[in-house]
Amino acid sequence: MAVATSPYQEITDDQKAMTEMVRQFVDEQILPNAEHYDAKDEFPAPIVDQMKELGLFGVTIPEEYGGLGLDLATYTLIVEELSRGWISISGVVNTHFIGSYLLMKFGSEEQKEKFLPKMATGEIRAAFSLSEPGLGSDVQAISSRAKKEGEEWVINGQKMWVTNGLESGIVFLLVKTDPDASPPHKGMTCFITEKEPGASENPGLTIPPKIKKMGYKGVESTELVYEDYKCPPENVLGGEEAGLNKGFAQMMDALEVGRVNVAARGVGIAQRALELALRYSQERSTFGKPIAEHQAIQFKLADMATKVEAARLLTRKAAKLKDAGERSDLEAGMAKLFASETGKEVVEDSFRIHGGYGYSKEYEIERLYRDAPLLLIGEGTSEIQRMVIGKKLLQRHKI
Ligand SMILES: Cc1cc2nc3c(=O)[nH]c(=O)nc-3n(C[C@H](O)[C@H](O)[C@H](O)COP(=O)(O)OP(=O)(O)OC[C@H]3O[C@@H](n4cnc5c(N)ncnc54)[C@H](O)[C@@H]3O)c2cc1C
Repeated sequence: MAVATSPYQEITDDQKAMTEMVRQFVDEQILPNAEHYDAKDEFPAPIVDQMKELGLFGVTIPEEYGGLGLDLATYTLIVEELSRGWISISGVVNTHFIGSYLLMKFGSEEQKEKFLPKMATGEIRAAFSLSEPGLGSDVQAISSRAKKEGEEWVINGQKMWVTNGLESGIVFLLVKTDPDASPPHKGMTCFITEKEPGASENPGLTIPPKIKKMGYKGVESTELVYEDYKCPPENVLGGEEAGLNKGFAQMMDALEVGRVNVAARGVGIAQRALELALRYSQERSTFGKPIAEHQAIQFKLADMATKVEAARLLTRKAAKLKDAGERSDLEAGMAKLFASETGKEVVEDSFRIHGGYGYSKEYEIERLYRDAPLLLIGEGTSEIQRMVIGKKLLQRHKI
């Protein structure tokens, strides 16, 4: 459906082949099964196993560590396709992708060699943990702490909303290491905490039952309770010498790529909602003709398709800038803001086009309606994106 009209939208032959392969996987394996896993709030293990075989856990990991070595632009195309099927599936890979980005950019050679090959195959999956019960947007207010006792770091604190919190094998965890630092972000460190995938009790780490949610089912969101959890100094991201008290900047850098990833999810869910609306509006008749022939419905479809294309362009532009090593903080914020709002709006319009049936669990749009709002929140709310965009705009246009 996409029309190539801009250099930001052009895709290479390799990207096209990859996208088509993932789209086929989504059509054959995810779309027919999403309703089952959503209804049971069950982890889609057979789908995840097939994703491992397709190499989707190592898309951006360099080939020398066993990954596919592809760029962020290709990854966003894949995420868009997966999210067109079910955003929970993109949730299974999202925190893993952020973790592999952190290792590739900031990890020591020993950390890369230890974790990346197993991450590339999906043997271990990664979670990413900033939020706590008392904070989400205000990351500098983190109260979890790590103290050096002898040779080890001892971590105490409670984390909230950790996607893949139970099934992951490693958690990239941001805590305070210097609580007196001013400003507070200068006293924060990222630890790679290891645990047994699927185990709710680990030495020093308890994982309570998963949080019950309105949507985004199948992929678990959990709390993590660290009580005297012992972490060796070699698990400070980048090594103790380079990484101590550098965690805030590392995590914010990773959030930038995370935002492009959430933008791609917004495009994917909006694309699916548009497809469903295009089909339903030609099947359903009122007042003697298909509703698609009523101008009010056509205008809705026109606005929906226009927003999807605009969101796609913003997302690809942000990804390509990041791949080119250019500044993309402003663009990532814009893409995340516009594409996540587009996801919510286009899903709602499709829901309205479905009339009463949109409210029925018989129709796929009901699931999308419960899933879409998450995108307004994860990786920073729309208000936080506007704050980032405003600040960066003023920095770039200072008089
Ligand atoms: C399903 C799910 C999965 C998640 N997964 C993860 C994860 O894997 N790892 C992780 O670390 N976190 C995760 N989160 C947490 C998520 O990042 C936070 O919920 C989000 O950042 C918002 O934080 P909050 O919920 O504490 O809201 P708050 O920060 O309390 O904000 C509440 C409201 O106030 C607004 N607001 C806050 N500050 C300002 C301001 N200065 N100006 C204007 N408005 C403001 C916000 O936009 C929002 O509308 C997840 C959340 C959900 C729901």
